[in-house]
Amino acid sequence: MDSTDNGVRLVQGVSKREVHMVEKRSFEIARETLKQLTARKLVPTPANYQSVYNEIAGIPSVQPFPADFFRDLSQTLPLKTPGQQKQKGLLDYAIDRLSWDGVKTALVGYGGFVPAAGPDEASSPSSTGSDSVVVTASSNPAALTTEFFVQIARLIEYAQPALGSDDARFVEQTQNLLKAMRDPQADAFTLKSLLSAYSHRLSFAAEDQAEIRNGLLKLLHLVFVNIGELSLDEQWLKGQMDALMQVATPPLSLRRIDELERLLGDVIFKQKDAKFKTLEAQDEMRKMLAVFIERLAQMTQSTGSFQSKLEESAKLIEQAKSLADIAPVLKEVVGTTRGMAQESQLSRDQLGAMQERAKQTEAELAKLHKELDRVSLQARHDALTGALNRKGLDEALNREVSTTRRNASVLSVALLDIDNFKKLNDTLGHATGDIALTHLAAVARECMRPQDTLARYGGEEFVILLPDTVLDKGIEAMTRLQRELTKRFFLAGTEKVLITFSAGVAQMTDGETPAEAIRRADQAMYLAKRAGKNRVLGA
Ligand code: GH3
Ligand code: MG
Ligand code: MG
Repeated sequence: MDSTDNGVRLVQGVSKREVHMVEKRSFEIARETLKQLTARKLVPTPANYQSVYNEIAGIPSVQPFPADFFRDLSQTLPLKTPGQQKQKGLLDYAIDRLSWDGVKTALVGYGGFVPAAGPDEASSPSSTGSDSVVVTASSNPAALTTEFFVQIARLIEYAQPALGSDDARFVEQTQNLLKAMRDPQADAFTLKSLLSAYSHRLSFAAEDQAEIRNGLLKLLHLVFVNIGELSLDEQWLKGQMDALMQVATPPLSLRRIDELERLLGDVIFKQKDAKFKTLEAQDEMRKMLAVFIERLAQMTQSTGSFQSKLEESAKLIEQAKSLADIAPVLKEVVGTTRGMAQESQLSRDQLGAMQERAKQTEAELAKLHKELDRVSLQARHDALTGALNRKGLDEALNREVSTTRRNASVLSVALLDIDNFKKLNDTLGHATGDIALTHLAAVARECMRPQDTLARYGGEEFVILLPDTVLDKGIEAMTRLQRELTKRFFLAGTEKVLITFSAGVAQMTDGETPAEAIRRADQAMYLAKRAGKNRVLGA
């Protein structure tokens, strides 16, 4: 505070005549003040100077005006609305004038422009600069704010069913927000941060719902297209409908819908192919049947002509009087019989060949149907274990990586390799090896969360994708699977077989491709093998 400030302060609250007197005496008082400061051994701070000055001048002692402090305070006030800006202007003016009353009025006025949800949220229409709004907003702000939040809470609650309940974190966030909004004691800043976290997640949830709906519609469209193609095999139609029903059962997820869409796309393609081949095969059968009937007709015809020849011969034989008469007839009969035998041999050969071809066609059709039964799985799944194959894994990885990036979440990948699998094959046979692979896949599927993905990476190697999972949790998950496997044996005949695996886990980093993350997991798996197998290491 400089002397000018003091001058102003002295001027305040006194009459004009007194001002002149003060000015006249001020020099003497100042000199006396300095003397007193020295005599009393007081530190010559502005506050001490003023206090002594007031004492000598006979001015009642007042609290020094903390102008610097107020200026700092004024600097930190948020200025989001014209109303707030105006009040800050008034505050600065009052500080300059060292006016306590001015500061008080400006701060009270500013307070009227601060909404309960926090200064950032101060929503004021263009007219908020006017004093009338200050009066309205501060007439009963507490009641207004409470009512306002109760209404928003109701709105959020009404909108909730449309956003689904699959995202447990979002559901919890919503509940917390609703609770806080309905709590009259809740503080504005907590509410504000809950609300902004909610709206951030809401944007993802709403986007997901829109995508899910589009995905479902596309899927329905595909199924209807498919029904048109389905005319040969009722079984197909049933299978497709079952799959649709399954995917339409909550909880819906983009992952599942996407998977089914691809699956159906594949099936439709293969089915068209199969339909074409089936029609071809049917045509072939029809042609063969036509030839067969023709041959049969020829046979009856020739049998008929042989019959009449034989009957004629029989008549001649009956009428024959001598062996010489019979001889030519016999010759005729022998010739006819031979002709008949040759004819039927020919027919038999032809029929046999046709039968053989029919059998082949039948076998081909059966194979085709069997292939069709599995084709939807085979496209992206490994036939032995039912886990995703490499193609399926690639697609799942792309999907998971983009979801992870979109949600600013984390993704861990685990690579596991069965220990001493070659030995198991060698001692118990390849078929038992196959059972071991199926067993591992089944146990893994049971242990994993629904959102995790299992893929067969190679012979006895599997990759597991763990969305929303940091490295430590990924290692924990693999260790859990490991423990579960050591508890559950499978039977090879009567022999109980236990398998173990070694695994590496890597948490995908921002700049990394999925292939690089798998490579790191593979290196960690290799180290786990080197360290003695049956263990899990992080990359
Ligand atoms: P390690 O503990 O170091 O992993 O040794 P390992 O014997 O498990 O590994 P190695 O790579 O030497 O052998 C893997 C064996 O897995 C070799 C191969 O014959 C067998 N294998 C690969 N695919 C299949 C399959 O589909 N079924 C069966 N039964 N065996 C398979
Ligand atoms: Mg291996
Ligand atoms: Mg192995």
